[in-house]
Amino acid sequence: MNDVWERVEPLLRQVERPARYVDREWGVVRRPDAGYHVALMYPDTYEVGMANQALQVLAARLSTLDDVACERVFIPWVDMSAAMRAHEVPLFTLESCTPVAEMDILGITLPNELTYTNVLEALDLAGIPLRAHDRGETHPLVVGGGPCSHNPEPMAAFFDAILVGDGEEALLEIVASHRASMAAGLSREESVRALAGIDGVYVPSLYLVGDDGVVRPVDDAPARVTRRVLADLDTYVSPTCPVVPYADVVHDRATVEVLRGCSRGCRFCQAGMVYRPVRERPADSIVRDAIASLRCTGYEELSLTSLSTADHSQLEEVLRRLANRLEGTGTAISVPSLRLDSFTVPLARLLGDGRKAGLTFAPEAGSQRLRDAINKNITEEEILTAVDQAFTAGWRRVKLYFMIGLPTETDEDVTAIAALVERVFAAARAATPPGERGGLRVAVSVSTFVPKAHTPFQWDGQLPIEEVRRRQVMLRQAMPRKGVELSFHDAGSSLLEAVLAKGGREAAAGVEAAWHAGAVFDAWSEHFSLARWTEALASAGIDAAAYAAEARDRHGALPWDHIDSGLSPAFLRAERERADRAETTADCTFGDCTGCGVCPGLGVDVVVAGGERRG
Ligand code: SF4
Repeated sequence: MNDVWERVEPLLRQVERPARYVDREWGVVRRPDAGYHVALMYPDTYEVGMANQALQVLAARLSTLDDVACERVFIPWVDMSAAMRAHEVPLFTLESCTPVAEMDILGITLPNELTYTNVLEALDLAGIPLRAHDRGETHPLVVGGGPCSHNPEPMAAFFDAILVGDGEEALLEIVASHRASMAAGLSREESVRALAGIDGVYVPSLYLVGDDGVVRPVDDAPARVTRRVLADLDTYVSPTCPVVPYADVVHDRATVEVLRGCSRGCRFCQAGMVYRPVRERPADSIVRDAIASLRCTGYEELSLTSLSTADHSQLEEVLRRLANRLEGTGTAISVPSLRLDSFTVPLARLLGDGRKAGLTFAPEAGSQRLRDAINKNITEEEILTAVDQAFTAGWRRVKLYFMIGLPTETDEDVTAIAALVERVFAAARAATPPGERGGLRVAVSVSTFVPKAHTPFQWDGQLPIEEVRRRQVMLRQAMPRKGVELSFHDAGSSLLEAVLAKGGREAAAGVEAAWHAGAVFDAWSEHFSLARWTEALASAGIDAAAYAAEARDRHGALPWDHIDSGLSPAFLRAERERADRAETTADCTFGDCTGCGVCPGLGVDVVVAGGERRG
């Protein structure tokens, strides 16, 4: 392998945050003499990518393989990429400063649609042809995964293979298959074809899109690619010795995943649908891994992560045991995205013993009718009780997440957000001693609904951008001023997300055109240009505004029909109809199975740490 450090080092004097490009952090594993090299890439900057837990989990799994080196790759910021191009320095891995093009396999997670052009930027900087069919025998296999794999089509042309679902076991099978192919002297085409035999692996070159929009296999590839699910999350320990960055990163703390999946059933939420069923890790494992991780990394903050951590059936026990073990160390414990109805006084007190890390709640909608339509399953009384408990326990700031443009939303639902915020502020004030009320803050963050694949709202269109902006103005005017910080997610980038989330294989030409026109770091507002994207998509025959707004036939073909997430189409359709009637559906972790199809379809079951399903 070639080490390009001598060519990289002079560039570091010219760029901001040079620490982004240097390894030597605590916990780095180097295996320069390994026989097989994997690069794992997060398609954003170092400081964003280092917070990604999935990469840590996969790196830890790969480290269990003999003779395999796993190295990290992030996207160079625009100053560094310009310098690299000017000096013909290729994209390199952090651990050994090896050109990415010399790796055996390049794994790229696709966390959201706004990172798509970053993937092309990385391939180009690496000197790897953008389109899979243009790659030669010496190029690494480019394998995708992550949340966007559930509608892979807009990016399908750029990947040799895409893994759908949990990667703990599948990634090791991919590596084993590729190594066996290499040992047998198979061609690139044969190696890629062999990957299609692994459950959960989609090989786009083995599928064609018909005139009817249906993606069909050629030859003997499976008609549908079934999502991989790790049945028991406790099979593998959490990564307890991850790399500790020297530079500031987005979440600079120890993390332990406490459960995977969420079956609350919010109808807009893709993660809540495609990561079913709920699989909890036992309290013993969580406490063991948390302590080991804090010891190994030296962090003084611990985050217990998942889609809905407060739903863990043993969370109070976990927090109590961690509080005992960590007493006197000053370690703060945070629980992201608390469910309002799961927030109890003991939970608040247990968390309050630390340094009161951020508290965020997501009511999503202001009116009860709309909360029922989206199946948020939360009442205003529960919201206000949770706020009262949090502020009684000592919090002085809370962040609330809402969405506008949800299916069935009316103007009354939008202004109801402001009315709810006003009552939240009043509840927070009442629970705060008079002398401390000056520091009270309610941050309100409002995003725009994006229809996502494999959700009950997958057939819905997005509100036209002009209408989104009108509703934003209406909400701003209705929102109380005092103590409230209101921010909106950019409607233009939400429009792009909708196009790419709904898009088929034809969208790839638009992504490529946008990148050629200079699009990169689209999730960074200073780099995003809706006009550039609109033009690029138009060059690929896509009218972005019309495409995002189009509602689809609930019985017609969808670009992701060949991806089997386990959810039954009949369940999704029934849930969409219940939304129109504002009827809620219960969480199956708390009660009976509601028939989404995942458990029987994928041969898995809900795993509750205490052993018994709650009911
Ligand atoms: S099949 Fe039933 S128990 Fe399993 S995730 Fe779906 S609704 Fe829940």
